[in-house]
Amino acid sequence: MHVIEVSGLHKQYGAVTAVQDVSFSVERGEIFGILGPNGAGKTTTVECISGLRTGDRGTVRVLGFDPAVDGEQLRQVVGVQLQEAGLPDRLKVREALEVFAAFYRKTADIDTLLDRLGLTEKADTAYKKLSGGQKQRLAIAIALIGDPQVVILDELTTGLDPHARREVWELVEQIRADSVTVLLVTHFMEEAERLCDRVALIDRGSVVALDTPAGVTQRAGGGQRMRFRPSAPVADEDLRALPSVTSVSRHGAQIEIEGGQDLIQQVTSLLAHRQIIAAELRIEQRTLDDAFLALTTDAQAPDNSPTNQRNGA
Ligand code: ATP
Repeated sequence: MHVIEVSGLHKQYGAVTAVQDVSFSVERGEIFGILGPNGAGKTTTVECISGLRTGDRGTVRVLGFDPAVDGEQLRQVVGVQLQEAGLPDRLKVREALEVFAAFYRKTADIDTLLDRLGLTEKADTAYKKLSGGQKQRLAIAIALIGDPQVVILDELTTGLDPHARREVWELVEQIRADSVTVLLVTHFMEEAERLCDRVALIDRGSVVALDTPAGVTQRAGGGQRMRFRPSAPVADEDLRALPSVTSVSRHGAQIEIEGGQDLIQQVTSLLAHRQIIAAELRIEQRTLDDAFLALTTDAQAPDNSPTNQRNGA
């Protein structure tokens, strides 16, 4: 049985189709990422999974439960950290955990949780006095207080500095080490590359890629790019004849070559054979960021609002 199964999910808000025929499944112990530009439908999808919203069509199952019907059973086994925890300013860290613990039949030990999340020293500190990173760690602690089998984390590291972000990433890896399944909504491709076993890339309500981060990168024309200044002339057609090369362009004295996984090895051996040196050599590996830009629409562009796209379609 899949831990999470979403099939043909559809959600409409008036004229806006927020989620359109979304399907994916998540296995036990996976960190599964939901990625996409602003307004793509990520939060709506996750809210349908956590039972906060109900889809218009399609099926959602979490540990075999239907979130729309079995809300109470689901709340006992799914921990949710949503965007902006919004706790009262004066509530202390330990008190917050006690408040949330009261909702669950089975709970994690509060002291152990505080220790694990590096919050022991802040146990008696009011929420408003916590740093951004500490607030996020508390939000994760709240998601874990019911000793869940599935944890949903939405925009976990938004607004955190690189140190705090890395600390939070280590916590997420620890959660997975306990065989808890993690559903992670993120805007940060570096975060998805570092943490996620698989990702669903959502654009304008639909899944446009569903694979490992490396698989998505590959599908979007992943591969390598090299740029250098040759010490002696080399003809474009000789470079294009190499099996891995997909394009060759000139930028002044520099050559830029794009191609597949064996690009670097094939080009450098051709140059070595001709005793040509590649000066100012730069090599770039395509990243998930490149794939994101290639596969999704710029939500900020005026003609790309979901309503315009859908009405025009
Ligand atoms: P972001 O990354 O900005 O949080 P998202 O991918 O989570 O975006 P959603 O919040 O699911 O996207 O929104 C998808 C679309 O549905 C957007 O066009 C949004 O404006 C619209 N939408 C979301 N919630 C509502 C609502 N309650 N009423 C009307 N429209 C909504």
